[in-house]
Formats: sequence, structure tokens, C-alpha cells
Amino acid sequence: MTDLRPAFVPECDHHVDSFRIRHYPGVTPETWTDWRWQLRNRIRDLEEAERLFVLTDSERAAIRKRTGMLPLGITPYYAALLDPDDPRQPLRRTKIPTLEEFERHGDECEDPLGEDAHSPVPGLVHTYPDKALFLVTDFCATYCRYCTRARMVGGGEFLPQKGMWEQTLDYIRDHSEIRDVLLSGGDPLILADDRLEWVLERLHEIPHVEFLRIGTKVPAVLPYRITPNLLRMLRKFHPLFFSIHFTHPEELTLEVRQACERLADAGIPTGGQTVLLKGVNDDPEVMKSLNLGLLRVRCKPYYLHQCDPIEGSAHFRTSVETGQEIIRHLHGHTTGYAVPTYMVDTAGGGGKVPVSPGYIEGREGDQLLLKNYQGRDTRYWDPV
Ligand SMILES: *Cc1c(COP(=O)(O)O)cnc(C)c1O
Ligand code: SF4
Repeated sequence: MTDLRPAFVPECDHHVDSFRIRHYPGVTPETWTDWRWQLRNRIRDLEEAERLFVLTDSERAAIRKRTGMLPLGITPYYAALLDPDDPRQPLRRTKIPTLEEFERHGDECEDPLGEDAHSPVPGLVHTYPDKALFLVTDFCATYCRYCTRARMVGGGEFLPQKGMWEQTLDYIRDHSEIRDVLLSGGDPLILADDRLEWVLERLHEIPHVEFLRIGTKVPAVLPYRITPNLLRMLRKFHPLFFSIHFTHPEELTLEVRQACERLADAGIPTGGQTVLLKGVNDDPEVMKSLNLGLLRVRCKPYYLHQCDPIEGSAHFRTSVETGQEIIRHLHGHTTGYAVPTYMVDTAGGGGKVPVSPGYIEGREGDQLLLKNYQGRDTRYWDPV
């Protein structure tokens, strides 16, 4: 578990502004909040990183060493949330690589979920009967060091091209069992409005596709992307849900809270997805604070994901027991809406398996023996 450390991002709402004024003195608030400017000005190399952070030897070496794998990429907005001095700050650990990323451990592999084997056409993963994952791009606004798709994101392999999307769309059109399409990547919100609209329109007109979702980290790393134009466009495609990837309560700045509120106001139900990460959020109080913070902006914590065994992720992975303790700490002790389902995604396309802790202790005849949230034994009459 993490040592509880003082928050780096203060509760006050001027933190990002102060960072802009200090490190980007010529940049007006109008430019700063332009999401394209944020993308163009991402921190992508050692020089930029050295300008903003006091790097450790391990961080510096890792940034230098990287060759074609998951690149460095941090929006200036998100850089404001990283502690320039403390390499142990949770958010900083998830964005700035260290040499630990180059270590290899026995169970790790490039594609632990076997997604490539379940990919009938490039950019589509069809593992489950009635839902499919549509990887529309391999770009992200900010790269997470523990990314499940580290094998493919940021490489420029999946340049969003309509030709490739057409192939995927054809597959979905031909498979009437697919009623739920989850746009992911990379990050779909990296696409310009008109390109995203092009994809959504085509999906929306397929009669058997009745449910669309967008999986994204953009509201957390580039909240300025949630513009009135984007929302106006998205509203045409209901029922459209968002799954937003959040990591830590320090991400819930004023900007991010506003982005979530705007999505909710546009009628888009939002769910939170969080990867359990050692030394980052593997602490019951940190997770409770994140989940309650999400509820305040109408985002329902949906899944807590066990970190997948991708190459170089050992320093981020925790035991399932740790995750279960976190769920036990939440269930009953706070609002039920704040309790996500805890998931392990299994090897070779076995799918996600819920591993939330159980409360059934056994059975005595017609009595089911249960343990309540306080650990007290209790019974339920459940005749066999
Ligand atoms: C996670 C996932 C989905 C969506 O699963 P839900 O449990 O419905 O959120 C769909 N396809 C693939 C391949 C996935 O990994
Ligand atoms: S935003 Fe998602 S897809 Fe992109 S690097 Fe992070 S975890 Fe991977």
C-alpha cells in the first residue's frame, strides 16, 4: 500500500493556471484551453521533460532508451498535475517511464489478453458474443506506462484511415449479433469532430447496433477537448455511454470536473474505469476518495481493473487480495454507487472475470451463511 502522502495538486482551483503562467509565459488562457494546441505541445522528449521536472537517473535513462515502444507523451495540462520534484508521486509514476519498464518477468507478454488472436479485421476485437471493441486510432493524448495496449499505441500503425474503418464497419454490418460497439484505441477523442462523427454516424445507422460506448482518458488528461461542438455532435448518437479512465483523485481538478458535468448535461452517462496500480492507487482511502469524487460529477465507478501482465509492468502490479480489500473497504461503508466491480482480464481472450470479494461463507441446511460488511456472521433462509 502507498504511504499516505500529502496531495500535490491542491484543492484550490488555480493550480493549472499558475503552472501555465510559470512554464508557458507567452501562452494565453485561450490558447492553453485549445485542445489542439495541447496536443501539438505535448511533452515528448527528454529536453521538454527536463525543462519541467527534476528527473531521476532512472527516468532520464528510460526516456533516452525508448525505441519504438510506448512513447512519452504528456499534455501540458496534465504536466501541471505532476510533481516536478517527487518521482514517487502517484500521477508522475504513471506517466514518466523508469528503467523498471525494461525489466521482464515470467508471466508477462506483449498481448496478455490475446486480443490479436480475436481480431477478425485489423482494429476490431471480437471476444464476446454481442459486443465488439473498435480500435479507431492508436494515438492517445497522454500515454500511461501500464497501458494494456502498449504493443500498439503510439506507434503510428493504426493511423485513422477511413479505408481501414470501412473494413471494420463491414465486419460489424455482417455480424448481426453485435449490438454493442465500444470505441477505443488509443483514444477515440483524439480524432477531430468530423472524423469521429463519420464513424459514429455509420455505426448508428447499422440496425442491429443499439448501444455505443466510447472508452477514453481524454476527459482526465485533456478536459478542454469536451467542447460544446463535440457535445452537440455526440448527442445525435444516443444511447451513447462514456467509459472514462481515471487513476487517482488528484486528477479531479476543476477542469476535469467541468468536463464530466458537461458530458452528463449532454445526457451521456459516464462510468469510471480504474486500473489498480501499486504505489499509485492501491489504497482503500485513495480509491474511496476517487470514487466519491467521481460520483459528485455524476460519473459512476464502473470497473476496477487488475493491471494486465504486459511487459515491464511488474512494478505496477498488486495482488488480487489487495484489490479485494479495497472493495471490502468500500462496500457497505459508503454509497453503493461508489463501489466498482473488480475485474481480472484473463489470458488468451478468456474475457473479464469479476473477482470482487465474496460474502457467502457457506451453508447450513436451508441457511446460507453470510458475512456482512462489518465482518459479522449473518444468515439468510434459502431453502435448497
Ligand atoms: C472489456 C471489453 C469489452 C466490454 O466489456 P463490458 O464488460 O461490457 O464493459 C468488450 N470487448 C472486449 C474485447 C473487452 O476487452
Ligand atoms: S489512455 Fe488508454 S490506450 Fe492510451 S496509453 Fe493510457 S491506457 Fe493506453
